[in-house]
Amino acid sequence: MAEPEPIGPALTRATERLRAAGSPSARLDAEVLASHAVDRDRSWVLAHPEATLDAEAAARFVAAVERRAAGEPVAYIRGFKEWQSMRIRTDRRALVPRPETELLADAAVAEIERRLAASDATITAWEVATGSGAVAVFLARRFRTAVALGRVRLVASDISPDALELTAENLAEHGVSDTVSLACADLLEPAGRSLPRPDVVIANLPYVASDQVDARSGSLGHEPRVALDGGPDGLAVLRRLFGQLETRARPAATVLLEIGADQGPAVAALAPRGAEMAVVPDLAQLDRVVRIDLPD
Ligand code: GLN
Repeated sequence: MAEPEPIGPALTRATERLRAAGSPSARLDAEVLASHAVDRDRSWVLAHPEATLDAEAAARFVAAVERRAAGEPVAYIRGFKEWQSMRIRTDRRALVPRPETELLADAAVAEIERRLAASDATITAWEVATGSGAVAVFLARRFRTAVALGRVRLVASDISPDALELTAENLAEHGVSDTVSLACADLLEPAGRSLPRPDVVIANLPYVASDQVDARSGSLGHEPRVALDGGPDGLAVLRRLFGQLETRARPAATVLLEIGADQGPAVAALAPRGAEMAVVPDLAQLDRVVRIDLPD
C-alpha cells in the first residue's frame, strides 16, 4: 500500500496530469476535485498542503482527476454547480448551468416584478428548455409567496424526459416542487395537456451551430447534444419558438432569450412582426440576453 501522500504534492501531480490532458484550468480543477475528495472547501485544501489524504480520499481524488482528464465537466464529477448562490444538481441529463445564464434569470425576475407592480392580473411565466431547472428553481424561490397567493404561475418544460427528472430533483432539493408546474413539451407545445398561455417566456435554447458542436471537444462532448445543437445556423430551435408565439403566448407577452454573442442581428431579423427587441450585454459586454415584447 502506498504511503499516505500530503495534499500539496498530490495537487501538483494532478495539475500536471490535467494540464497534459488539455484542461484550460488545470490547477483550479485539481483544487476543486481535491476539496471534493476530502469533503472540505477549497480554502481548507489550500491552507493544509501538509495534510495527508487517507487511502479512500486518495482513491477518490485519483478517480475524479481521471474523469476530468477524460473531459468530463467538473460539475458532473462533483454532482453540483454553484449558481446564483444555490447548489444545482448536475449530471449528464442536462447542460451545466453557465454563469452567463444568471443574467437571463435576473432579467426574468425583473420582468415578473415589473408586471406584478403594473397590474393585479395573474402572471404566467414559463421557462422552456429548463434543463437542470436552475432558472426555474431561482424563480420559484424568489416568487414562492406570489405563487401561493395566486399572483404568479410558474411553468417549466423540456423536451427531454431525462432533463425533466433532473429539474424535478432540483425543485425538490430546494423545497419548491409545488411552486412550479412541470411539462414535457416541444417548447410551448406540451404533449396532451393544456397549460395557461404565458405572459413571460424565458428560454435558454440550444443555440450553437451543429458544426461547432461537432468541433467542440472536452467538457462539451459530455453534455447532451440536444441542449446545445441549434441546427445549421444555431437558430433552428429559436425559429420554432418564434413560430409558436402567436398562438401559444399571450398578447403583449415578453420573451427573454439567452443568445450567442454574435446572434443579435440574426435574432432581430427573425423576431415576430410588430415586436420590439432590445439586447442586454453580459459582464464581458457580449450580447447575451434578448428581450422581445410582442404586440398587444
Ligand atoms: N453558452 C453555451 C455554450 O456555449 C451554449 C448554451 C446553449 O446552447 N444554450 O456552451
